Amino acid sequence: MVGLAGFETAFAQSAKKSGKKSGKGLQFSFIPYDLQLRHVFTLANSSRTHTPDMLTKIEFDGFVGYGEASMPPYLGESIETATKFFSLLKMGQFNDPFRMDDILAYVDSVMPGNCAAKAAVDIALHDLVGKIMGQPWYKIWGFDPAETPNTSYTIGIDTPEVVRQKVAEASPYKILKVKLGQNTDKEMIETIRLTTNVPICVDVNQGWTDRQQALDMIFWLKEKGVVFVEQPMSKTTIDDMAWLTEKSPLPIIGDEAVQRLEDVIKAKGVYSGINIKLMKCTGMREAHKMLTLARVLNMKVMIGCMTETSCAVSAAAQLAPKCEWADLDGNLLISNDPYSGMKIVQGKVTLSDRPGIGILANDPKWKI
Ligand code: MG
Repeated sequence: MVGLAGFETAFAQSAKKSGKKSGKGLQFSFIPYDLQLRHVFTLANSSRTHTPDMLTKIEFDGFVGYGEASMPPYLGESIETATKFFSLLKMGQFNDPFRMDDILAYVDSVMPGNCAAKAAVDIALHDLVGKIMGQPWYKIWGFDPAETPNTSYTIGIDTPEVVRQKVAEASPYKILKVKLGQNTDKEMIETIRLTTNVPICVDVNQGWTDRQQALDMIFWLKEKGVVFVEQPMSKTTIDDMAWLTEKSPLPIIGDEAVQRLEDVIKAKGVYSGINIKLMKCTGMREAHKMLTLARVLNMKVMIGCMTETSCAVSAAAQLAPKCEWADLDGNLLISNDPYSGMKIVQGKVTLSDRPGIGILANDPKWKI
């Protein structure tokens, strides 16, 4: 693992090792990075204190684009799988970074799966191309940065004491995202409601198993000021989910059930909306297509993230102006963010006018 000042050296060694420094094509390099979490992060089925991550870079004609793969263990990717995937890439064959469709179709074809690793290439390519064009991606896509939603701040499953502490930390945020799915669901919500009346969204991470109980719970949650419910039951219970969505007084958002573009079509009629995450869908290019398709299907869209640095969060934020909800707090949940970029100002996603994905290095020795 490297310190911030060592990033350039580590990237250079990676590029040299993979023999991609020669020729006129795209030069790709990567280094492993361990994200340290501020709090133990507990979901319905797991908890952890750090997240394995890969930082990536694509260089071309004096320009440099940065990317990232965040790999929470439950998604099946790791430093080892990403290293293997990156070692198979032959990015030097591409001499024109603007051929993004061809380049990213090639990246997607190298191996199945590896969605976070693919996103790390996609984000770096977008950053590179945006920098060459001198424009941020939200402008290239024609979005109004004033239209970004508030972001939610995530509260994991925990004891009432820790929950109260986290809610106090979240005071600048205008919406809270609460993880449910264990046997303390009502206690979690009631603890939060003793402290604040801000709107809450709920993420069950497939934790509920009985559809009638789920529906009863959603009616109870509505009374408590909850605005939507994410992935209440298993992604495999399609009939139950469709039943629940039809009867629910709150929008039901598919997250685990909606990974890539093809899943958006399957989600129509089963969920009211989708949660797009770059690490699930291979990056910004497919995320933009998912957003467009969801709009055509009259579905709501939330842009989400993993625990990740300001690199991937700022990349995702480029899509935020066209999303109903944003859950872009991943960089705030880690204590060793090497970048800065998208900011949360009074709870709202606030985009910079820097080109590409709009990030800077936090260490001035590391020039971006
Ligand atoms: Mg979720």
